[in-house]
Amino acid sequence: MVRVRFAPSPTGFLHIGNARTALFNYLFARKNKGKFILRIEDTDKERSKKEYEEAIIEDLKWIGIEWDEGPDIGGEYGPYRQSERIDIYKEFAEKLLKEGIVYKCYCTKEELEKTREDAQKKGLPPGYDGKCRNLTKEKISQYEKEGRSFVLRLKVPEEKIEINDLIRGKVIFEGENLTDFVIMKSDGVPTFNFAVVIDDYLMKITHVIRGEDHLSNTPKHILIFKAIGAKLPFFAHMSMTLGPDRTRLSKRHGATSVRAYREEGYLPEAFFNYISLLGWGTTESKEIFTKEELIEEFSLERCHKASAIFDKEKLLWMNSYYIRKTELDKIYQLSIPFLKKENLIEDMVDKEKEEYIKRAISLEQEKIKTLKEVPFLIEFFLKEPEYEKENYEKLINYGTKKILGEIVSILENIDNFKKEDIEKKIRDYCREKGLKTSDVFHPLRFAVSGRTKGPDLFGMIELLGKEKTVERIKKLVI
Ligand code: GLU
Repeated sequence: MVRVRFAPSPTGFLHIGNARTALFNYLFARKNKGKFILRIEDTDKERSKKEYEEAIIEDLKWIGIEWDEGPDIGGEYGPYRQSERIDIYKEFAEKLLKEGIVYKCYCTKEELEKTREDAQKKGLPPGYDGKCRNLTKEKISQYEKEGRSFVLRLKVPEEKIEINDLIRGKVIFEGENLTDFVIMKSDGVPTFNFAVVIDDYLMKITHVIRGEDHLSNTPKHILIFKAIGAKLPFFAHMSMTLGPDRTRLSKRHGATSVRAYREEGYLPEAFFNYISLLGWGTTESKEIFTKEELIEEFSLERCHKASAIFDKEKLLWMNSYYIRKTELDKIYQLSIPFLKKENLIEDMVDKEKEEYIKRAISLEQEKIKTLKEVPFLIEFFLKEPEYEKENYEKLINYGTKKILGEIVSILENIDNFKKEDIEKKIRDYCREKGLKTSDVFHPLRFAVSGRTKGPDLFGMIELLGKEKTVERIKKLVI
């Protein structure tokens, strides 16, 4: 059975590139009716934070990625947090030590520094020179007596390492110049490479799908798998996600965390869809996929070898597409936190107001790009407009005040206050007076909303209602 994992280190918010790694693992698992595991790689005590673990979990859930085993839900192969598995790594390390596959290295920092410098001088590759590989018993007991601490290093065999990467094809690790590397640090904590392999082995991971940035670790992983006598999983290294300038996606390119996009008002479905296209695609140029379609269509063979470019504009376009296609009720629900943040609604919203806000949103739904725009777009429905000075001077003068005054009487006399009637009456008025519609509509829109742009003028007036509309115009012309 296919078993894959996403193994974030909780040292920051979930990055878009990592979210894509999680997504591809998830899609692969679902497509193959396998299991998707979440593992938290928190052995770096200094940099790992519980808050980040929680944030990563929350953001993955927000995107719509669910896992079958993980630190929050447990599972047969737990614990799923590396910090809770230290004893397991120790046990493996001790066994390897007994078997003579790893050895204790007592070299001090200074000695290692010197080895590096010497190698550099001689034009040799950097790395460990194997000095402690064959220490005599006497030397060992001398070091022990001195109370020197030690690390455990793997005896790297001289062999060619190659894999058949499911995305990159045959990868031969030549000239990697691997030297005996550390698997356990002097404080008894495993190195990243060791912990990853022990976990992948014990958690019965069949496919390691991760970013290409880990490709350079893979030969080390292979050697560790071999050292513990484990069968190798399949490897698939996904291309990196770059910014528009083709450098690795980073803060320089603006927001890179999923959290930031969530707070900007992106819909999870849009985000899910967009990141699935980062380095993956079907042969057709299709871009809009539901989750079910993606599960159905996903395959590693369709992952591109070339780097993916993160295109914010495309994501924005996709988001507005999803906003247009989503039912109004849902857009309303999702807009609530944004409206609250701008103090436009209270904690409790009665049914009538809810309907009113929904109608306001629906007038703009075609235009909304992110939910964060909703408060601004409908603000004047919920509070008195602020009239910008410059436009006021342009649009409100003796002539337009007269027009608006006449519009007030027209509006007051409309019984069926529906946009069709309102429009008809106002257009009739323009015709009768020989006025250009724009000379009437612009000041009217401004008087009612405080803006020069906005939703359909008559729909807006209908929703605002006769009383409010008249009151606003009067306030401005008197
Ligand atoms: N913890 C690693 C990271 O956050 C992932 C390791 C792996 O996928 O093998 O980059």
